[in-house]
Amino acid sequence: MIHMKPSIRKFLDAAGTFQCPICGDALAPSGTSLRCSRNHTFDIAAKGYASFLNSHRGHDGLYSQSFFENRSQALSTGLYDHIIRKVAEAVIPCMHSDGSALLDVGCGDGTLTKQLQRLVNTADAAAPAVPEASLYACDISAPAISIAARGGGNIRWFIADLAQLPLSNGSMNVITDIFSPANYGEFKRVLVPDGRLVKVVPGKNHLVELRETIAHSHQEKPDVYSNDDVFQGIERHCTIRQVSSATATIPLSSKQWERFLAMTPLMFHVRRSSIDLASLHELTIEAEIVEATMR
Ligand SMILES: [Zn+2]
Repeated sequence: MIHMKPSIRKFLDAAGTFQCPICGDALAPSGTSLRCSRNHTFDIAAKGYASFLNSHRGHDGLYSQSFFENRSQALSTGLYDHIIRKVAEAVIPCMHSDGSALLDVGCGDGTLTKQLQRLVNTADAAAPAVPEASLYACDISAPAISIAARGGGNIRWFIADLAQLPLSNGSMNVITDIFSPANYGEFKRVLVPDGRLVKVVPGKNHLVELRETIAHSHQEKPDVYSNDDVFQGIERHCTIRQVSSATATIPLSSKQWERFLAMTPLMFHVRRSSIDLASLHELTIEAEIVEATMR
């Protein structure tokens, strides 16, 4: 253990927080892996992440390494700062100084998780920070997690299926779910009783300028975006405690536009050449931040 790299040791030190995603047994350190009593073994990469997928599940080809590289560059310019600040304000009061833990699900390239960690762990946020809080972050995409772990510090990054989270029952105080799918059954299992879910969903005006431009290029009427379905899903499983919104309309340079177009799912089925950048100037980034407890 003496020469164990910190990037691996951070997982071995937290072995009790994890459980086997296959059989649900406890995991214990075994060399540079975590292993259960039935010998299901999960490797920890020296680059600072662990893999809990038990087969080589194909992930959506639209989400490639270059997609996440673009996403990382686009988001690191602070486009989502106003949203992450509100998430931090919701999270911090739910964390205690006695080793609380937060899980960010569907973290993608991890850029927003790192921004959230800075606000939660350091004292420049509006609310008092919680330096002792531990952050965990997962995604089903291996390329995303390998990018996230670069400069990922003490966040415990791992590749996992949302339907089989490799975390012990009641091991998390807060789950953040930022523009990502939910699995409410697993959220309830891994949260402490009365643990908090902070789910961020797109607001009605999110990316409205881009949606109008895409519709115009196809000579269609812009669709009216609705997040009603998402809210109905939350209400089926959770008690909503508070909803706040965060919106900002931000001027983008043509370089920022190119990066954004390369990473937004809105463009997955749209030809880049059909979008005239001359008609695009500002972009609205809007979200609703839903604070809930599980029922
Ligand atoms: Zn097992």
